[in-house]
Amino acid sequence: MEILHDTMAMQQRTLALRAAGKTISFVPTMGYLHAGHLSLLREGRARGDVLVLSIFVNPTQFGPNEDLDSYPRDMENDLALARSAGVDLVWAPLPKQVYPEGYATYVDVERLTDLLCGASRPGHFRGVTTIVCKLFNVVQPQVALFGQKDFQQLTVIRRMVTDLNIPVEIAGMPIVREADGLAMSSRNVYLSTEQRRQALVLSQSIMTAQRLARSGECDSSAILAVLRQKIEAESEARIDYLQICHQLTLEDQKRVDADSVLLLAVFIGKTRLIDNSFLL
Ligand code: AMP
Repeated sequence: MEILHDTMAMQQRTLALRAAGKTISFVPTMGYLHAGHLSLLREGRARGDVLVLSIFVNPTQFGPNEDLDSYPRDMENDLALARSAGVDLVWAPLPKQVYPEGYATYVDVERLTDLLCGASRPGHFRGVTTIVCKLFNVVQPQVALFGQKDFQQLTVIRRMVTDLNIPVEIAGMPIVREADGLAMSSRNVYLSTEQRRQALVLSQSIMTAQRLARSGECDSSAILAVLRQKIEAESEARIDYLQICHQLTLEDQKRVDADSVLLLAVFIGKTRLIDNSFLL
């Protein structure tokens, strides 16, 4: 496994691989790898000749009062996991190489980014689309793998790739969960034992909503009212958003159908967790 930090060196490496006819599959991450990331790497390994992993905690997608400085990092462990997942190339650049002095260019996907996480984290998706576009230009992958855990991010990236004619296939991969249902996230380490217990309210809310929808309740507001009560019963939980949306437009749906996705963001103490699922 080769580890590169320099942007130009990485781009030259991938351009040479493309010229040699290799298929590049790519998994972008912010590191602190867990089984969710590993599932993307496993699929990436199967889909390309060369598997590239990027590890970069992207400053432009964090708001001023968010957790950029405290975001968990463990490069040594990440590299060991990457090696065991069969990664060929790791790209771990420094922020000043990615955003050098004078940097002034951003990618902005409209509308989809005003909703949900975009409403509560202004500028977040502009940071995400900018970094993903830059990563694609450097890594030149034919296929890139993203988790459905970040459902809105996946939708926004698909929109960007379509709109900007970026020649890459975007593969969306299922959410990997802990045995008790909590969606895996690098941020789960922030939770105390009691918060970790209360965090189960997210996945349990999804199961409740699915049970209701599958037993014939198709009024979104009735389902959401049940969930709101359930979440608010947890002392450390504060709802950021709780919505039933169309899978493509991310707009609110009054009636549940096969395109309905429940999306939720809940603070457990100071930690903001997200989860989602189709309902039918
Ligand atoms: P992150 O390091 O949090 O930026 O995530 C990197 C990639 O891993 C993104 O495409 C995420 O959607 C994906 N990912 C994170 N958590 C999970 C999970 N629990 N299951 C599947 N994919 C995940």
